[in-house]
Amino acid sequence: MKAVRLYAPGDLRAGDEPVPVPGPGEVLLRVRLVGVCASDVHYYNEGRIGDQIVTEPLILGHEVGAEVVATGPGVSGLSPGDRVAVEPGQSCGNCEPCRRGWPNLCPAVRFFGTPPVDGALREFVAWPARLCIKLPPGMSFDEAAMTEPMAVGIYAVDLAKMQGGEKVAILGAGGIGLSVLQAARVAGAGKIWVTDPLAERCRFALRLGADHAIQGDPEAAALAVRDESGGPDVVFECAGTNEAVQQAVAIAGFNARVIIVGIPYPDEVCFTASTARRKNLTLVFVRRSRDAVERAIEWAQDGRIDLKSLVTHRFSLDQADLALRLARDRSDGVIRAVIEV
Ligand SMILES: [Zn+2]
Ligand SMILES: [Zn+2]
Repeated sequence: MKAVRLYAPGDLRAGDEPVPVPGPGEVLLRVRLVGVCASDVHYYNEGRIGDQIVTEPLILGHEVGAEVVATGPGVSGLSPGDRVAVEPGQSCGNCEPCRRGWPNLCPAVRFFGTPPVDGALREFVAWPARLCIKLPPGMSFDEAAMTEPMAVGIYAVDLAKMQGGEKVAILGAGGIGLSVLQAARVAGAGKIWVTDPLAERCRFALRLGADHAIQGDPEAAALAVRDESGGPDVVFECAGTNEAVQQAVAIAGFNARVIIVGIPYPDEVCFTASTARRKNLTLVFVRRSRDAVERAIEWAQDGRIDLKSLVTHRFSLDQADLALRLARDRSDGVIRAVIEV
């Protein structure tokens, strides 16, 4: 089968590899589509996220739409021909967070496209059947792949423990910011402000239910949200920068929650402690997602959210490099680039 590996930052190469054999409880998937996520871009660009470092050539990709082509021993409930979305994290089931119901916090998790676990940018992959969620009829592979960023958005909103009518700010309107936006709408948010330096992302946010979208320099835009809203009750940091964390703390209202969804780069985060303390802020960091893929599918089915339009660009497996670079440069109005495998 054809597979694309990252050998070093910026160095992706296609090669021929053996088709995996599904073990007990696993299915063999024919990968159809892979979304390019900001975390893939981190590995492509810097070769690492924090202390997770690409030391061996790695297959990227964890936002997956696929089709079951074979089942390993002991699999029930899935059969060849089923189309599925994929939960990309395989937790150990034995550690303390796993036993307490937090598989997303499992330190031994095997996560697609995170060193040393190969991801989905290849024609076939073997994966536990329990982590493959059957798609309802009519749901596309595009939507299946977008359930992954959407699940992160849903989980971030879960962690915010939102009450109906609260004022919400979302800093950054990429795939994750727009997923948070849609999940916040479903959770009954009041007015929602979104900021982004890119005009087309702001227009996107308005189409997906934001009340106000402020385009421009991130700091100025964030301060404008503070002035217009009088201080949001919940601020979601979805820009993945240190400055955005600082800005989120600066604009949050009294007793507000600041939810850090992005992966700040570099790995150390700084904000003004006295500002956070005087407002009695709660800071929450988001680790991937938990119990949210099923809701993403259900809400897309009944029209509460729109997964389809998050996909703005389409590439072939041979063009994986172009897809990664487009996502890195945020050029041409890209929200999510997908790679058809
Ligand atoms: Zn992702
Ligand atoms: Zn575990």
